[in-house]
Amino acid sequence: MAIRTIRELGDEVLTKPCKEVTKLTLRTKILINDMLDTMYEAMGVGLAAPQVGILKRIVVIDIGDGPIVLINPEIIDTDGEQTGEEGCLSVPGKAGVVTRPNYVKVRALNEEMEEIELEGEGLLARAFCHEIDHLDGKMYVELAEGGIHDVTYEEEE
Ligand code: ZN
Repeated sequence: MAIRTIRELGDEVLTKPCKEVTKLTLRTKILINDMLDTMYEAMGVGLAAPQVGILKRIVVIDIGDGPIVLINPEIIDTDGEQTGEEGCLSVPGKAGVVTRPNYVKVRALNEEMEEIELEGEGLLARAFCHEIDHLDGKMYVELAEGGIHDVTYEEEE
């Protein structure tokens, strides 16, 4: 278990396309565990391998329903639309409004390198899109309508 350094916007590694994972080596298993630790430590809902400087097509997500590990994920179906605030661990303290499909179906490999299909709506659909974009070197800031802004926390009255 180890916490890895999260690369931030401006780091070249975040703009590069990632390579497919062809076999699950010990090194890759350690990477996946470290990605989960790093995501939980940073209190994020998702993390892609390039965010810790590794150009492999691996994503971890947990929107509060337990960890999801996706290897070589691809979006195979989408439906509907949602518009809402989105943030990224690589762009700390910022958020922006992004429109995404409201339903997303993903095909990927799990940690046993078995093919799986997962469906998500709402936040999970958004997380699938956001994290898979990272694997193609894309950041949500390019999609944010009106750019990104500081996250402000309103005082409770
Ligand atoms: Zn992100």
